[in-house]
Amino acid sequence: MDANKKNKVKLIIVGSGPAGYTAAIYAARANLEPVLYEGFFSGPAGGQLMTTTEVENYPGFPDGISGPELIEKFRSQAQRFGTTIISEDVHSVDLTPDSFHIQGKKTNYQAEAVIISTGATAKRLEIPGAGDGEFWQKGVTACAVCDGAAPIFRNQPLFVIGGGDTAMEEAMFLTKFGSRVYIVHRRDQFRASKIMQERVLKHAKIEVLWDSVVTSVEGDSVVRSVTVFNLKTEKETNMAAGGLFFAIGHIPNTAFLSKQIELHDNGYIKVFDGTKTSVEGVFAAGDVQDHVYRQAITAAGSGCMAAMEAERWLAERSE
Ligand code: NAP
Repeated sequence: MDANKKNKVKLIIVGSGPAGYTAAIYAARANLEPVLYEGFFSGPAGGQLMTTTEVENYPGFPDGISGPELIEKFRSQAQRFGTTIISEDVHSVDLTPDSFHIQGKKTNYQAEAVIISTGATAKRLEIPGAGDGEFWQKGVTACAVCDGAAPIFRNQPLFVIGGGDTAMEEAMFLTKFGSRVYIVHRRDQFRASKIMQERVLKHAKIEVLWDSVVTSVEGDSVVRSVTVFNLKTEKETNMAAGGLFFAIGHIPNTAFLSKQIELHDNGYIKVFDGTKTSVEGVFAAGDVQDHVYRQAITAAGSGCMAAMEAERWLAERSE
């Protein structure tokens, strides 16, 4: 496609997880002929489900389904009703009211309405040994639920960093596979909900290393140990480890918006009255606007809402 030729469409959807594809299915069935940017370099097209092994809580799949398989089903359903899918990242957008411009690597579009569903990315820490080309994805990951069942973690001591609900959930999940699970938390109390803390604190396989940080990761072809530093006693301990899991929160993927719509202090898109953003005609769905539930099913639900609200908005505009 000629990069300088601008294509005018009714609706652009940016992002391709459950929210984006569901929005596309609804919008395509409403004859809005949506164009969906599924991403390319920014992360796997399909979002976080692409790195999830088994999805057991998505209704309709009583025997579970792998994340990539579920995404493929969403994608083909969106295509079946006429969604145009572009395998590029969106580099920039111009959300000046009444004239939205979307710039991909090779393509650009002018759209009457936009749905943003770019999701969120798990945060990582820059610890020596934990980076790309070191032990990242060789025992260090940012998603226990996605990766924890892998053979390298079986019957090994496993370490989770964080003190929120995600850390609690991931530690509990890892007790199914590891010989012992350590939660390394930088303070002397968790911020996780009381009920989840209680579950963790009374679990025989879980030990909490309070006031502590991991300062390095060591191994050969995979992780073999981590060094833990106690911030109060200033004691450093090298501990055998088969895996290290970051559970320190997520960053919503909003950088490309260059602050053209209102965000919460934590970077998530502010939505009003459903999925409307601070710019009329721009809607947000999925994890990019949800830091609480963050589930495939809630993302899909909000994608449906965004498509219906975009359809209504376009209809009112053309009256
Ligand atoms: P979170 O609540 O923001 O917690 C992040 C944790 O990571 C905090 O304990 C924080 O420590 C720690 N942390 C952050 N940066 C760190 C750093 N640089 N070094 C070391 N530790 C660091 O994130 P979350 O646990 O992902 O939860 C996000 C939201 O999703 C919450 O609203 C949560 O309730 C929700 N959630 C709910 C469920 C559920 O209900 N089933 C499950 C998962 C998540 P400090 O405490 O010291 O700041």
